[in-house]
Amino acid sequence: MIEPEQINILIVDDIPANLLALESLLESQELKVFKAQSGNEALGLLLEHDFGLVLLDVQMPDMDGFETAELMRSNEKTRNIPIIFVTAISKEKQHIFKGYESGAVDYLFKPLDPHVLRSKVRVFLDIHLQKLCIEKANRQLEITVEKLNLANLKIQQQQQSIIEEERLNLLLQLAGATASELNQPLIDLLETIDLLKLEKNDHSPGKLKSSIKQIETSGRRIYDIVRRIQTIPHLEAQPGQMTSEPYNVTHPSVRLLAVEASDKDFLDIKTLVVSNPNASIRRSESINEALNLLQSNNFDLVLAGYFLPDGTGLELIKKMGTAGIETPVIIITGKGDEIIATKVIQAGAYDYLPKDQLHGKSLMKAIINSLNKLRIKKEIKAAMEKMADLSIRDVLTGLYNRRYFFEALEREISRANRTGTGLVLCMMDIDHFKKVNDTMGHLAGDMVLSEFGKMLKDWIRHSDLPCRYGGEEFAVILSDTDVEKASGVCERFRNTLDQRIFVYNQTSFKITTSIGISSLALLATKTGENLVRTADEALYQAKNEGRNRVVIQSRPTDFLRVHQE
Ligand code: GH3
Ligand code: MG
Ligand code: MG
Repeated sequence: MIEPEQINILIVDDIPANLLALESLLESQELKVFKAQSGNEALGLLLEHDFGLVLLDVQMPDMDGFETAELMRSNEKTRNIPIIFVTAISKEKQHIFKGYESGAVDYLFKPLDPHVLRSKVRVFLDIHLQKLCIEKANRQLEITVEKLNLANLKIQQQQQSIIEEERLNLLLQLAGATASELNQPLIDLLETIDLLKLEKNDHSPGKLKSSIKQIETSGRRIYDIVRRIQTIPHLEAQPGQMTSEPYNVTHPSVRLLAVEASDKDFLDIKTLVVSNPNASIRRSESINEALNLLQSNNFDLVLAGYFLPDGTGLELIKKMGTAGIETPVIIITGKGDEIIATKVIQAGAYDYLPKDQLHGKSLMKAIINSLNKLRIKKEIKAAMEKMADLSIRDVLTGLYNRRYFFEALEREISRANRTGTGLVLCMMDIDHFKKVNDTMGHLAGDMVLSEFGKMLKDWIRHSDLPCRYGGEEFAVILSDTDVEKASGVCERFRNTLDQRIFVYNQTSFKITTSIGISSLALLATKTGENLVRTADEALYQAKNEGRNRVVIQSRPTDFLRVHQE
């Protein structure tokens, strides 16, 4: 209850002695008494101050009490102020009735009984106090509603900005990936043009035809990539629209799972959903049932109530996360449950919908938004995977790059040391590769490198790691094997390459490779650095001994010493 300082009460009587008498009866700490000697004076005061009660003499010379009350009723400010008529005249019903018609709320009869007067005034003042309380509570409520609306708006804006951020990230990633994709055909194109310039005196139709073909191939690759880029501005041009092909009500069929314990709420949702011919709905009444259904069926979306028999919507989202179920969830909250809404969004819900907004348009909007959000998430994931792949692969050969080689080597060495399994490293270097470039051109060299990469991939086991170590040098990490088996594999590969005939610009030629092998088991110091150095030494030896051969590391004396001890 609020404690107002003082309540204003107005007493109206044409006889000053009566006013004084009333005043002395009413005077108290909680009341401030105003006096008026006529209806007009009373109306003036009523407009000027706020009153909780008026004691109105009925019989007054110019304007009687009833007329004064009548005028009070016609004014917005004074309309609802309670009135107690004070009268000495007849108690006949007629008068009482007239008083009520003009809006009065009670009567007091002269001569006034102080007890009756005080108790009646008390009753009205209590009512007045309660009214003040209700007004204050209403104002408070309005402020709260206003705050909740603001919070709601903020959540929506936050969600929007997260979507915008995701879109921007996606665009940047796609742009990066595309730039990297464009690089190779552009280099090809420019080099072919350079070659054409260099060979401008060589008009042989064979060479010209091959150069035109190369330009055409590169041009087509660039054209394809550019066409893909053209869809990117489309994404940017429509803020609020997620991707080039957004979900809409008529497009794909949507399979919904409603997790709803209340029959009535489920029926409401079902009625809304089935009004759309492309949507189907199934129901589960609990979190556990929902998890089972989600694991054994394909659903596009989950619509879940917050309070469920075996937990809350928040727990449903968490359990879905633990089970690796990525189906988007929309939580249906109670009215004004912005705190719950914030929590579920933070926990990973795609959207929330207050129960009172559960009508066709809002529901469909939430569904479409969530499906679009899911799609953009998937696109981002795919783009990230592509980016991650690009960062560990060599573009020309498709093999792992040097950076990845060292990462993988460290990992494989610690695994081999931990499990005691064998690990072998082969370093390969194409023999006299410079000659290929010098005689056939750089593009021919590239073709050889690319073919060499393919052969290597075909040759080794799935678990082995083929890398382009640099230029025309390759490294293969062979796990779970020993030096004898590895040297067999390398020898067969060397032999296959030796037999292979490469053709470029209708010119046939052959290439060979030298291979150096080192084994972790043969090292005293079992580190990556040592393994690479030892394989390099073996490769150097292979080159010195005439190339096109496989050399296994020599067993170092420290190794023998370790085993002799
Ligand atoms: P060796 O038998 O001693 O290994 O002789 P080599 O000619 O193979 O070795 P060298 O290191 O002298 O020359 C390697 C050449 O490989 C030089 C370089 O221009 C070329 N090369 C490196 N990377 C690439 C590439 O990506 N494409 C092409 N076409 N050539 C490359
Ligand atoms: Mg070489
Ligand atoms: Mg080399």
